[in-house]
Amino acid sequence: MAAKILDGKQVSAGIRAACKQRVADLAARGVVPGLAVVLVGADPASAVYVRNKMRACADVGIRSFRFDFTDDVAADRVIDTIEELNRRPDVHGILVQLPLPPQLAVTRVLRTISADKDVDGFHLYNVGGLVLGDTVFPPCTPYGVMKLLEHEGISVEGKNVVVVGASNIVGKPMALMLMQRDATVCICHAKTRDLAQFTILAEILVVAAGIPNLILPQMVRTGAVVIDVGINRLPDGRLVGDVDFAGVREKASYLTPVPGGVGPMTVTMLLVNTISSAERSAPAHAVVAPARGAAAIAAAGIG
Ligand code: NAP
Repeated sequence: MAAKILDGKQVSAGIRAACKQRVADLAARGVVPGLAVVLVGADPASAVYVRNKMRACADVGIRSFRFDFTDDVAADRVIDTIEELNRRPDVHGILVQLPLPPQLAVTRVLRTISADKDVDGFHLYNVGGLVLGDTVFPPCTPYGVMKLLEHEGISVEGKNVVVVGASNIVGKPMALMLMQRDATVCICHAKTRDLAQFTILAEILVVAAGIPNLILPQMVRTGAVVIDVGINRLPDGRLVGDVDFAGVREKASYLTPVPGGVGPMTVTMLLVNTISSAERSAPAHAVVAPARGAAAIAAAGIG
């Protein structure tokens, strides 16, 4: 039987509708959520990601501010900009689009972002929070995967879960979030010997390696839930994941498509994190417009 396709676009639409309501509630408290996006260089894929994120912001009522730098920008200029954004009260989230050119040390740049505005969840403080199960901003891609599973009613508790890929932005936080929900997690990476002997045991398989067709049907347990995080552009222009979609579809119980699976969820969780940040910084009660003239005098009980 063919796997059920987990439609990230559809699940995202529901979450984005809730985002619009939260933005409206914030407006009543006098706050418009704001996201600053920093883009360095002219990588076409990064430009597309940034454009999509800003479009998604506009769609739910988040204000976004874009800061573009050329490839050869001095590190201090980027750092100064981030420090300025840390101070701006109309900016609740700061996102630096990765990858960065070599003169910019990723760790230095990411640590400059205030932990309170780190909506990507990459700051040391937020990563530490994730390890302790007490994160402020869950990193968007694994957060999106968890929401997708939750929406479908797929429990991870006690399940054998294999995560293929151990990067700081996807694989590692994914494994931590799954552990937090009591899954038994195995993490594979480029030096894992005989990947298939691990993947075949997975009741839930999350793949984030960036290699087309890395996961073939014979590597997947019958009935497994397969989440394909990979995004790869083939020479013919097609966008594919890391999983042999057509083959694995016949073996799995659930499967995410690429595009239209984890990708839209990632952008949506960025919106959620930005709104959460604005909510934390907003006054607790609705802002009432100040009374003027006679009304103000009457309200103050004067005269
Ligand atoms: P990354 O930083 O390049 O990390 C790739 C990871 O995969 C590394 O841990 C690497 O192992 C591992 N790996 C490489 N070859 C492998 C193999 N043959 N077997 C097992 N593991 C292998 O990439 P990333 O940023 O995590 O992204 C991974 C993929 O997800 C990319 O296609 C990216 O475009 C996509 N992505 C999608 C979204 C989304 O929203 N859908 C978001 C982020 C990323 P080592 O650690 O040993 O090198």
